[in-house]
Amino acid sequence: RCTLGSAEMLILDNAADARLDLQSRPDVQTCTSWRAPIIWEGMFDPDLYDQIHRKQGSSVALTVFAIGRYLDAYLEAFLNSSEHHFMLGLPVSYYVFTDTPEKVKSIKLGPQRSLRVIQVQRHTRWQDISMMRMKTISDTIESDIRHHCTHVFCFDVDQVFTGRFGPEALGDSVAQLHAHYYRLPKKLFTYDRNPKSQAFIETGDFYYHAAVFGGSWKDVKALTEACYKSIMEDKQNNVEALWHDESHLNKYFWIHKPSRILSPEYCWDTSIRNRTDIRVFRLLWAPKHYNKLRT
Ligand code: UDP
Ligand code: MN
Repeated sequence: RCTLGSAEMLILDNAADARLDLQSRPDVQTCTSWRAPIIWEGMFDPDLYDQIHRKQGSSVALTVFAIGRYLDAYLEAFLNSSEHHFMLGLPVSYYVFTDTPEKVKSIKLGPQRSLRVIQVQRHTRWQDISMMRMKTISDTIESDIRHHCTHVFCFDVDQVFTGRFGPEALGDSVAQLHAHYYRLPKKLFTYDRNPKSQAFIETGDFYYHAAVFGGSWKDVKALTEACYKSIMEDKQNNVEALWHDESHLNKYFWIHKPSRILSPEYCWDTSIRNRTDIRVFRLLWAPKHYNKLRT
């Protein structure tokens, strides 16, 4: 039996609503060894989740970074698609971080949805741009998000929503299964294997994707703060984790188990073919042209 999150527990206590039981699916793992649910299509009643979180007063901050060429390449499509699929029916506050605020085009937002553009410094190396997001997110939760939102979700910008990404994804601490690794044996997971790095782990539970993570503002603050600290410690020791912030995120989730895990339906790469377990595409990787983006 999987453990339910606090929102579900409260409703269960109040109404003893048995419909909140997550269904199982025979073809995939739907529960971790520590009894956290892994959310797949077919396991939940979407309308019920919408109702519960509205009743609970959940509200979601979405953080996304569009620095340098990533702004023109991805931001508009990301935001427009999010307006069609991300947490519809709940209040959503976008936090867009960029080095060029004047270049952010205004987009049409639904009711109860707002967008803030916040200027950030542009680090020279893409690895630093990626890693330093942890610091910016943590600071913004402290100064702003925690006063306005119950939950935070953090996304890479090089993706497009193509299906519902709803409140069934909300929990205290939410991790994303990496599309390329969820069916591979653990020994192939690309954790950081350098004992000198703070991100070093010998083994783990899953390989999580840093392109999507979230949770309550409190848990995301703890996560981003811890990852930032480890990243800075590595810098002082002149080491860098194999996959940067993703390596640190995987270390963090090994020690602090996520309370909810999203199936790869929530961050899929369509170059992977013939997967009958993927019943719906909710968020897709956008095409990447690294040679143009990272020079
Ligand atoms: N990013 C950015 N500008 C850059 C590099 C990275 O805005 O020059 C942000 C952007 O949100 C991007 C994220 O950092 O999605 C992570 O980098 P990237 O997507 O290139 O990493 P990958 O998905 O290839 O591991
Ligand atoms: Mn990316």
